[in-house]
Amino acid sequence: IYKNIIKLNEDPNRIIGTLILIVDVTEVRKLEKMRTDFVANVSHELKTPLTSIMGFIETLKGGAIDNDKVRDRFLNIIEIETERLTRLIEDLLTLSDIESNGISFKQKVEISVKDVIVEISDMAKELAKQKNIKYSYEMKENLPYIYGSRDWFKQLLLNLVENAIKYTPGGGEVKVLVYERENNIFINVKDTGIGIPKKDIPRLFERFYRVDKARSRKVGGTGLGLAIVKHIVIAFGGKIKVKSEEGRGSEFIVRLPL
Ligand code: ADP
Repeated sequence: IYKNIIKLNEDPNRIIGTLILIVDVTEVRKLEKMRTDFVANVSHELKTPLTSIMGFIETLKGGAIDNDKVRDRFLNIIEIETERLTRLIEDLLTLSDIESNGISFKQKVEISVKDVIVEISDMAKELAKQKNIKYSYEMKENLPYIYGSRDWFKQLLLNLVENAIKYTPGGGEVKVLVYERENNIFINVKDTGIGIPKKDIPRLFERFYRVDKARSRKVGGTGLGLAIVKHIVIAFGGKIKVKSEEGRGSEFIVRLPL
């Protein structure tokens, strides 16, 4: 911003000085771009399943409804797409709530890590069984408590375990390892799945970032799970690390202070 300075009550053509103001707007522009990218992403993500649902409904109405086999297959696809849409909206609401209000632990409660692991493992075993994946967990008997919100802690584990199962082909293995070290609880979620290319690892926790969009969609992904995970880990004052090798598997290591 460049402005000439003229003294009041004097000849307006007599310039007595110049003011130059330099403002760095990089951050502002970056935020604006992130916001517009986000709206574009959301619209695209909502439109894709809707277009697919619409297409199958049209085809059914056009005559496919008379063929029992085709009808069942199309209805099945419509159901899967609708479920994905519902999950996407739920994840968006969760993320938008976190980003506008933060994760506040109004009342920090004592969380038994062991109980939550056992709880989510019942569900994980079932999911893994459907894909012929071996699921197991390993932890010490006397794990200490952590403090915060039990629901958020459960969501954190669910997202990581669900991903491990989603991105591991049949016949593979998913293992959860929990241990205490130097006043921290460590939770490792390890799989023998497809792995993540090195170049993608730094961007994994961004909203809507997916290594392979088509694949993520096929397995019901929304691209928001890890963005939510990152917020939860930060709220607990912890850290998350990823180790992965393409084609061999991944390991997500969460450290939460006691
Ligand atoms: P999504 O809903 O697509 O799974 P996430 O935010 O949970 O979104 O994960 C982002 C991306 O990170 C995924 O699309 C996938 O490419 C990659 N990813 C996450 N977890 C794993 C894993 N255990 N193995 C391989 N890739 C993974």
